[in-house]
Amino acid sequence: HAKANGRGRVELFTAKLARAAAGRAELERDLRIALERGEFVLQFQPQIDIGSGAAVVAEALVRWAHPDRDMVLPGTFVPFAEETGVIVELGDWVMDRVCQTAAEWAQAGLTQRIAINISTRELAQVDFFMRLRHAMARHGTPAEALELEITETLAMEMEARLLDQLHALRKDGVRIAIDDFGTGYSNLSRLKDLPVDRVKIDRSLVEDITLSAEARTICSAVIGLIQGLGLETVVEGVESQDQVDMLRIMGCAVFQGYHLSTPLNEEDYLARFAPSRLGQKVLDA
Ligand code: C2E
Ligand code: MG
Ligand code: MG
Ligand code: MG
Repeated sequence: HAKANGRGRVELFTAKLARAAAGRAELERDLRIALERGEFVLQFQPQIDIGSGAAVVAEALVRWAHPDRDMVLPGTFVPFAEETGVIVELGDWVMDRVCQTAAEWAQAGLTQRIAINISTRELAQVDFFMRLRHAMARHGTPAEALELEITETLAMEMEARLLDQLHALRKDGVRIAIDDFGTGYSNLSRLKDLPVDRVKIDRSLVEDITLSAEARTICSAVIGLIQGLGLETVVEGVESQDQVDMLRIMGCAVFQGYHLSTPLNEEDYLARFAPSRLGQKVLDA
């Protein structure tokens, strides 16, 4: 009886595995088809300099406009795309769209940069930087119009070959930001040697600052560290004016989050965050 039971369990397990594998293969195929059909779209979320009220950077965030579903958020497909390698093609698409959009904005006189999220798997490609440079050349994108967001963990683990190329790109004028700071493990002494301009403080570090003195202490220490190294802070996931007020006192000037704006499609973004004449010029082009 026990044996039969055990066997039943094994069968159930393999059946589940097979189904999961089929599901995964299907999802991988769906992602590739979606790319071919042009079902991915970019939205843009502003980083606002609270002193001037101006948007300084637009972070490009990919979405899957699935024909029979609501807009699918990257949390559900980016990790999977990374696992299967589809992220390389998806990343190329994002890079191409961002380079073109950033070139158009710069052409129309907008000074805001567009930030691209780069995942581990994309950076691991030996020709990543070459492909980025090709995309920039293809669209005539000025280096100053671009920013790369690299997660804290990835930045800390970067090997010398990649760091050299990142240094070179930064020297040409592309800004480099560390994303999700405070969620990974940092070798803090390494931070000063990285080719980095800005550090994005993760939402998890600021979500409780209005409620907890400990959260405030940690947040304020992190901000002090970043600014002490001469880097700019950007705070992510800002959802209330109370947070803004508190973070300003701690020395932050640039904020990103639903309190300022959710991610928007390009047209809505420009309508709200480009000086109107320029925004119109981009849209007319
Ligand atoms: P991320 O780069 O840290 O992007 C910030 C995420 O926080 C976005 O989620 C954004 O919509 C969300 N967010 C912004 N403000 C708030 C807020 O006030 N409260 C809360 N709760 N959330 C806020 P999204 O768009 O779902 O993206 C999730 C992650 O997917 C991104 O995190 C990034 O790691 C990845 N991702 C997005 N687009 C791309 C892409 O084009 N390429 C790659 N490789 N990864 C991407
Ligand atoms: Mg990001
Ligand atoms: Mg982030
Ligand atoms: Mg994040």
